[in-house]
Amino acid sequence: MPNTKKKLIVLSSPSGGGKSTVARYLLRTFPQLQFSISATTRPKRPRETHGKEYYFMDIPEFFRKLQNNEMIESEEIFGQYYGTLKTEIDKAINQGKTLVFDVDVKGALSLKEAYPKESVLIFLTPADKSALAERLRRRHTETEEQVQARLKRAEMEISKSTEFDHVILNDVLVDTFEEVKAIVEKYL
Ligand code: ADP
Ligand code: 5GP
Repeated sequence: MPNTKKKLIVLSSPSGGGKSTVARYLLRTFPQLQFSISATTRPKRPRETHGKEYYFMDIPEFFRKLQNNEMIESEEIFGQYYGTLKTEIDKAINQGKTLVFDVDVKGALSLKEAYPKESVLIFLTPADKSALAERLRRRHTETEEQVQARLKRAEMEISKSTEFDHVILNDVLVDTFEEVKAIVEKYL
């Protein structure tokens, strides 16, 4: 049973595994939580706002920040770059806030390496590959080719779930919410 407070709550899963859904639930359930806004080079989707879901930037700006050591971790995922900005973490820690991360599996493990004592890693696992495929298709944010690429990467991601502090089966959503709430409560 956890006995220390954690300042970095890191959610990870294969694409379509439920990270954004669970992150939104945690943010509306616990007012002391704040979303960690990542930098990305991917184009903004229709309902997204710069500085809310992501800091959207072009490739030169992203690499300038990377070279200036302004990122704790970064990954290329499906042909786009994503990274966690140091300022985002420093600001939250200074303000006594607890951050919620929505990052890929490698990013989650890098955060654990950089902040071993402050972070807790939660992996959301799908019931099976067909459930994941169905959710990705229903979301209508990817083409079929992009869905296939995400399903392929999912295998590698699921194989790394053993390195996480908690693994939650995301099948019935209300059960997932209850489970994740119970885990997070223990760390606040
Ligand atoms: P991620 O952020 O990991 O890519 P999302 O949170 O966007 O995943 O979830 C992918 C899709 O699946 C969304 O349309 C979401 O509403 C849906 N979804 C997530 N969890 C469940 C669940 N347990 N049951 C049914 N649909 C779900
Ligand atoms: P999307 O483009 O669908 O918003 O995100 C694609 C993937 O990038 C998701 O798995 C998401 O969790 C991951 N991601 C978002 N921000 C970061 C980040 O800062 N670092 C890493 N490593 N992955 C990220």
